[in-house]
Amino acid sequence: MLHKMFDTIKGYSLLLEQLQPDPKNYQFNSSEIRKPYAFKTLVATILSVRSRDETTIKVIENLWQHYSTPKDLAEAPIEHIEELIHSSGTYKQKAKRIKETARIIHEKYNDKVPDDLSLLVQLPGVGRKVANCVLVVSFNKPAIPVDTHVHRIANRIGWVETKTPEKTEHALEKLFPKEEWMRINYTMVSFGKNICKPINPLCDICPIEKNCEKKIQKNDSRISKTKKRTKNKR
Ligand code: SF4
Repeated sequence: MLHKMFDTIKGYSLLLEQLQPDPKNYQFNSSEIRKPYAFKTLVATILSVRSRDETTIKVIENLWQHYSTPKDLAEAPIEHIEELIHSSGTYKQKAKRIKETARIIHEKYNDKVPDDLSLLVQLPGVGRKVANCVLVVSFNKPAIPVDTHVHRIANRIGWVETKTPEKTEHALEKLFPKEEWMRINYTMVSFGKNICKPINPLCDICPIEKNCEKKIQKNDSRISKTKKRTKNKR
């Protein structure tokens, strides 16, 4: 099913691919090219929380024109960072977090973003989703970043029955072989934006319609309603 979804959305590029040197040639296995962009990817992912991708792209590129290294960002006046990222939601909190994250990366990790989940989640503003995004996008490490799209669709299709993104992450890890993990976020986010939308999903053109729990339940309830109506007419 994942492959069918992947084929359907192939060609769409997401926020984090757009930060790479050549987004059109984005390859899952070209981590050597992507590693130098790890700090930018990390900051962009922190900025992307509760913000539209289009806004995040503009904001990160604007910020990068002024401060593009951990040292520069760590030493930047907080008011200027706030001004540069103003259009991103909760910008005051984000400004504080990215400045402090930049300081830690500069002082503790010698300007290199760590490629370890347990270290990444200790950085301010970095939860499991952000950390897993950085591991997948910048270091080619198998991980499943679970955002609202992944959590919603995995439950909607019936792959998992979970209440929190972290539980979804662990359930998906059991469901899919490791070599598939890196595709999951990319595939499901694009799929969630273009086909399996939160409201009015495009089930009629969906490639996995026959296997989808939501669709099956919808059909079942339609059949039982028709049966009820027929019974009442008799
Ligand atoms: S059939 Fe509809 S609800 Fe199910 S995955 Fe496809 S678009 Fe989403």
